[in-house]
Amino acid sequence: MTHPLPQKGILEIEPYVAGRAQAHGAERVFKLSANETPLGPSPRAREAFIAAAGGLECYPEGSASELRRAIGERFGLSPDRIVCGAGSDELLHLLAQAYLGEGDEAIATEHGFLVYPIVTRAAGAKLVSVREKGLRADVDAILAAVTPRTKIVFLANPNNPTGSYLPVDEVKRLHAGLRSDILFVIDAAYSEYVRKNDYESGIELVATSDNVVMTRTFSKIYGLAALRLGWMYAPAHVVDVINRIRGPFNVSVPALEAGIAAIRDIAHFEKARAHNETWLAWLSEEIGKLGLEVAPSVANFLLIRFPEEAGKTAQDADRFLMTRGLILRQVGSYGLPQHLRLSVGTEEANRLVVAALAEFMGKRA
Ligand SMILES: *Cc1c(COP(=O)(O)O)cnc(C)c1O
Repeated sequence: MTHPLPQKGILEIEPYVAGRAQAHGAERVFKLSANETPLGPSPRAREAFIAAAGGLECYPEGSASELRRAIGERFGLSPDRIVCGAGSDELLHLLAQAYLGEGDEAIATEHGFLVYPIVTRAAGAKLVSVREKGLRADVDAILAAVTPRTKIVFLANPNNPTGSYLPVDEVKRLHAGLRSDILFVIDAAYSEYVRKNDYESGIELVATSDNVVMTRTFSKIYGLAALRLGWMYAPAHVVDVINRIRGPFNVSVPALEAGIAAIRDIAHFEKARAHNETWLAWLSEEIGKLGLEVAPSVANFLLIRFPEEAGKTAQDADRFLMTRGLILRQVGSYGLPQHLRLSVGTEEANRLVVAALAEFMGKRA
């Protein structure tokens, strides 16, 4: 042995590759690869962030109590059952670190979020990937994959990058089939965008059980991805565990202040929801008309399937769109090499994407 070695499993992790942010050669660039909001954050959140520059020498209040109170007020939750983190990514890491170890298994779905395998292997455990059905989580397949070693089930609802969701009845059926010592982690990063009567973000299940955690983020509809801010709603015993291992000052003052302002700006939130509702439907329809398969999505992005024929593949489309300054996300690492993921953008960006795809497909938009 010549140098220090990390814990087992760490070197098996495929480093996360983020969506590209640059297109060389194009005059203007539209980043539609990271599901960021085209409306930006609430102007009040921006003001709160700037105001926080006046006290950078001071540590934050370590328990994020004011932000937890604001979140609690907004959703009718007890602040005692909330933990804030540096993005929901941090909370997923902490949950894995606390509840997984060598010899344990965590379950995620075939096209699930890539952070789940990372946090699972980082904790020394094994990720069991379960087949989806029609690009949607399959409750029976997940339950069939449970073994005595299973300690966590991760479910993104809605899922990224497929855009599909499980209705509340299915989520409850999944929960009912899990042993009570398995932690069921519902990642509801896109829940604010969902407009379906049969959808529930996970709040109800957390409130009525002892083994469910829901994670949420300020990175998506609230437009604060740069600040790294997320939260989870969990049973008291899980809150206690995570508070023991998290960094005592894991959320920065600017993030706390901006988050409080963002969650209270309901008008901006509604504007972002309405924008998404309009343009998600428009993009699905217009791209569908070009002869491309678009998976039904309830989030702020679409999964587009490209033909396998040479010159028309997802990689060809990606290259072509890049020359127009349109950056989409390749999702081969999610097991979807024939697809690209497109985030809903500004009206201008959305129209440019459809026009460019029409040209790529040899059609008039
Ligand atoms: C974007 C996203 C998140 C948010 O991660 P943050 O660390 O809060 O920025 C969580 N889960 C899924 C599935 C996502 O796509």
